[in-house]
Amino acid sequence: MSQSPYQILVRDLPLSREFDVPASFIAEAMRGLPVREALGGTADDASSCAGHLQLDLYAEGVHVFANGRISGVVMVACSRCIEPMRISFDEPLRVTFLPSAELPADEDEPDEDGVAITEDDLDLFAYDGEVIDLEPLLREQFVLAVPYAPLCAEDCRGLCPQCGINRNQGTCTCEAPGDPRLAALKALKFPS
Ligand SMILES: [Zn+2]
Ligand SMILES: [Zn+2]
Repeated sequence: MSQSPYQILVRDLPLSREFDVPASFIAEAMRGLPVREALGGTADDASSCAGHLQLDLYAEGVHVFANGRISGVVMVACSRCIEPMRISFDEPLRVTFLPSAELPADEDEPDEDGVAITEDDLDLFAYDGEVIDLEPLLREQFVLAVPYAPLCAEDCRGLCPQCGINRNQGTCTCEAPGDPRLAALKALKFPS
């Protein structure tokens, strides 16, 4: 047996692995996402995140195939009103691990773990030929679970841009200003 639930020795394949993903791991994976940072201190609340991974892994030559499911709950800030909201997901997971040397050539910069992943090859991960590391895969799954601009409700009314009141919870008497983005667009003169 290997020490960490995230590490799998290729010589032990095939095997199945199933475990809960600790909230601390999820919080770390999502560090730096604006909709997480907007939560401030509550983002570290251990009860606000949860995850569960189930994978069946087998090897064919140097290819390692992993099939299973990932589910989780993450806490983020609504992109309009900044109130905390939960995002739940439960997705099939199907990825292939390849020895680093066999990964397709890639112009992109490798990410901080040295794992180069192109947008076309999101389901390809590198490994060193002996040990499969599930951590980069897991981190990516939790980041991918968060939409670019999550909404607590489709009709969330957001914050008043002038006084900052949460319009879902109260009203204010601020005058509706002209949309500054429209004004800026009108001021633009496009060269022909
Ligand atoms: Zn909202
Ligand atoms: Zn207002």
